[in-house]
Amino acid sequence: MHPNDFAAPTVGAGPLGDPASVGVRWLGTAGYELTAGDATLLIDPYLTRAGLAHFVTRPLTPDAAAIDAAITRADAVLVGHSHFDHVLDVPYIAHKTGAHVYGSRSAANLMAASGLPAAQVTALDPGRTTTFEVGPFRVTAVPSLHSPFAFGNKVPYPGEIPCTCEIPIRGKRYRCGDVFSYRVEVAGHTLYHLGSANLAEESIPKTADGAVELLLLCIAARFAVPGIIKRSLDAIRPQRVMPMHYDNLFRSAAKPLRLLPLTRFGRFVDEVRDFDRDLAIATLPLGGRMELRS
Ligand SMILES: [Zn+2]
Repeated sequence: MHPNDFAAPTVGAGPLGDPASVGVRWLGTAGYELTAGDATLLIDPYLTRAGLAHFVTRPLTPDAAAIDAAITRADAVLVGHSHFDHVLDVPYIAHKTGAHVYGSRSAANLMAASGLPAAQVTALDPGRTTTFEVGPFRVTAVPSLHSPFAFGNKVPYPGEIPCTCEIPIRGKRYRCGDVFSYRVEVAGHTLYHLGSANLAEESIPKTADGAVELLLLCIAARFAVPGIIKRSLDAIRPQRVMPMHYDNLFRSAAKPLRLLPLTRFGRFVDEVRDFDRDLAIATLPLGGRMELRS
């Protein structure tokens, strides 16, 4: 086993079939599939996992076989920001499933470039909290921030994907755009997805401690925002936290998972323990699924 190979234990998995249960499947990177009854909500699905050489040298295209193997249906897709590892696969998925896409103006521009009908896309207002419903899911899009981990403490690939964009484009042209985190309420459960390791506390909806049952928390590049784990837990106050976006996203899902550089998983656990030694940490294997049950 390579020293960076990582096998995460599954915590909180339960049997299928409870009508009040919510399925949570980790698709890799910041990607999740949430299921409730026969409704499906995707957040930042990225199955293509293009290799680093491809990313640097050639335009990116979705890996249809990888997506088809993982995604069979979706009612909506939520896009946190428009970097390639959050949005590249969304046009293909939206065309394939008919899912409605919610995201920034940049994400909407990319959907238009793919030929998706405008009626299938909602460009969220930047800087404004927006609540909408997708079947049984009540979603609140919350203005957020991206980790400024590029040289000089800057957001990597900043700016917008223009409305004149013609796809396919190279990875570096997937500009960040506006950033949103998502609070999702469904079947008596509340989840929160923070897809980049940064946040704007003043935008986070105020809720009681533990009202958020599960925080899906990006831990990639958190070194650029000191104290971000404590700040995130302080602002969102979840019952349990699931770290994500720590897998090397340039590596095929068919190979054993390896951590991104500087992940320091043990340090993350220590930071959670420092915040609250009783706070539960849940992890899933790549492609793994758990259920939240009432
Ligand atoms: Zn990003």
